[in-house]
Amino acid sequence: LPPHVARRAEIVVDLAAIRHNVRLLAGEIGPDVALMVVVKADGYGHGMAQVAAAAREAGAPWLGVATFDEALALRAAGDTGRLLAWLTVPGEDWAPVVAADVDVTAYSLADLDQLVDAVARAGRPARLQLKIDTGLRRGGSLPADWPALVAAARAGEEAGHWRVTGIWSHPASADDPAHPANDAQEQVFRDALATAEEAGLRPEVRHIANSAATLLRPSMHFDLVRVGIATYGLDPAPGHTRDLGLRPAMSVEATLAMTKRLAPGDGVSYGHTWVADAPVTVGLVPTGYADGVPRHAGNTAHIGVAGVRRPVRGRICMDQLVVEVAGEGEEPAVGAGDRVVLFGSAPDPTAQDWAEACDTISYEIVSRIGGRFVRRWT
Ligand code: PLP
Repeated sequence: LPPHVARRAEIVVDLAAIRHNVRLLAGEIGPDVALMVVVKADGYGHGMAQVAAAAREAGAPWLGVATFDEALALRAAGDTGRLLAWLTVPGEDWAPVVAADVDVTAYSLADLDQLVDAVARAGRPARLQLKIDTGLRRGGSLPADWPALVAAARAGEEAGHWRVTGIWSHPASADDPAHPANDAQEQVFRDALATAEEAGLRPEVRHIANSAATLLRPSMHFDLVRVGIATYGLDPAPGHTRDLGLRPAMSVEATLAMTKRLAPGDGVSYGHTWVADAPVTVGLVPTGYADGVPRHAGNTAHIGVAGVRRPVRGRICMDQLVVEVAGEGEEPAVGAGDRVVLFGSAPDPTAQDWAEACDTISYEIVSRIGGRFVRRWT
């Protein structure tokens, strides 16, 4: 930070926690299953290149991203390991990622056509993975189109355009272990693998598990698991998982700009949606919805103040919010210039606590926080 800039609001990312979580997850899946750490969306808000380096250091053989831009950014940052990308639009150029030795994902015959052209320009065969839609009805080949896709993929392999390195899918409801979609999707996946094998494909990696399936459904591990949220120390399926000892890597902190004593009847922030009914002390937290603090947190979330969870009072503003730092009859433990923690690790509130307060999931809380926060990696 330049010397005139105070540490107003920071996202502190603990890379030791990332490494710890990667090792813990690798232990959980055992030596016969490979770990892919998902670092899309700027590493779920934690910093893609930094998380990638930490994951590699902890032994992750694979990284996963959504877009080609993300894959190329990782290569530009010096990452040379196995890396899968899975989200493209028609007209996007596949040649740079082929040249950069990224495993690309095809959903359709149209994707294979684009890839043939890209391979010719890249001057080297591609590493190709095929995605089967086993029930999420998002990306991937519908089961009815699958035999044609695998036949074309096999023909392209014989023509030397690529090697089919993987076949994969994605679960819809792995965070709800009793959901019937889990069994159904696993069966469709097994059938799709059999079809591919009959067509002559011999992929290195077959994979369908996200974090929730990794922790809750070993029958979905196959050769590799794609773990995002658990790497960041957050629970993919609250209420279903046992405590593995994952550590949240992100801590979101701010410096109190001022504190003030309120009188009973004082309304706080726009609309006076909260009114003091007793003399209390509030603090001004200099960050708001423009920085990715959800406006839904108004009157619902808590902030860690000197190790105690204190309620957000009134609406979240664009750049500011108000937290009660001491209730009636309490002496405030903090004043202007002191640090508070919006979310991080217990005893402070966690991203999961914020997710529950804001009627969303921890993924959205961590991936959207940003704006004018300064990020620091420890
Ligand atoms: N695989 C794919 C294709 C994804 O899009 C994602 C993220 O949503 C993941 C794996 C990781 O999911 P999770 O963060 O739940 O582990």
